[in-house]
Amino acid sequence: MFDTHLHVQRLEKKDRYVTPCLVAAISEADWPQLRRLHDYNPQQWLALGVHPQHAHQWQNTTEERLCQQLDKPGVVAVGEIGLDKRLAVPMEIQELVLRCQLRLAVACGKPVVLHAVRSFDRLIPMLKQERIDRVGGVLHGFYGSVEIARQLERLNLAVGVGRLILDPAAKKLVDVVQAVFRDFLLIETDAPWRQPCDDWRLVWNNILDQVAQLRGWDRHQAILITDENARRIFHVPQGEM
Ligand SMILES: [Zn+2]
Repeated sequence: MFDTHLHVQRLEKKDRYVTPCLVAAISEADWPQLRRLHDYNPQQWLALGVHPQHAHQWQNTTEERLCQQLDKPGVVAVGEIGLDKRLAVPMEIQELVLRCQLRLAVACGKPVVLHAVRSFDRLIPMLKQERIDRVGGVLHGFYGSVEIARQLERLNLAVGVGRLILDPAAKKLVDVVQAVFRDFLLIETDAPWRQPCDDWRLVWNNILDQVAQLRGWDRHQAILITDENARRIFHVPQGEM
């Protein structure tokens, strides 16, 4: 199993067992803590960046500090970055900070972990302009149409399938999981998103089972495919998962 999106830094200590996984930073304050997590557990791979909810904290010097972090052990991606129209942070600031981080990702050859809420209209043109296809990555917690998922595929971006797939009302996501190219599917819990949970591994397995059923895969096949996808997209060597 490879959980491609969670925030271990926000889990209670007893829950910090989900490995291997990709742990996403939210703000600069997370970076040192996440690097210690990787030192402690080398199977916890890291995405470092500034989430749109903290975009207003971005300073001229943040870019240089982030750039220095991207070379450190365990840092495999730039994230979690993106656009979110629900947030109070003005869109102009979010876009500026996102663009800086996209450029940094391309310059450093790191894939991106993207967060997008009601903003595909602004996000997709920017991803094209910045030629994010050169590094690829994932649109985590994806909820959108098959058409948008296809555009992401063309940008070398995978779809991160999370707990929404367990909600019978999320019909668009069912279509996406069935339509998307198999190399572009990833499984994520986004723990601890919205609720406390006693067993995140169980949640991950439930999402995997649902994806397997929708694709007509058996469980073993689904684990192999999604593990291989995570390893390829984030350049995590085989045997280190
Ligand atoms: Zn997240």
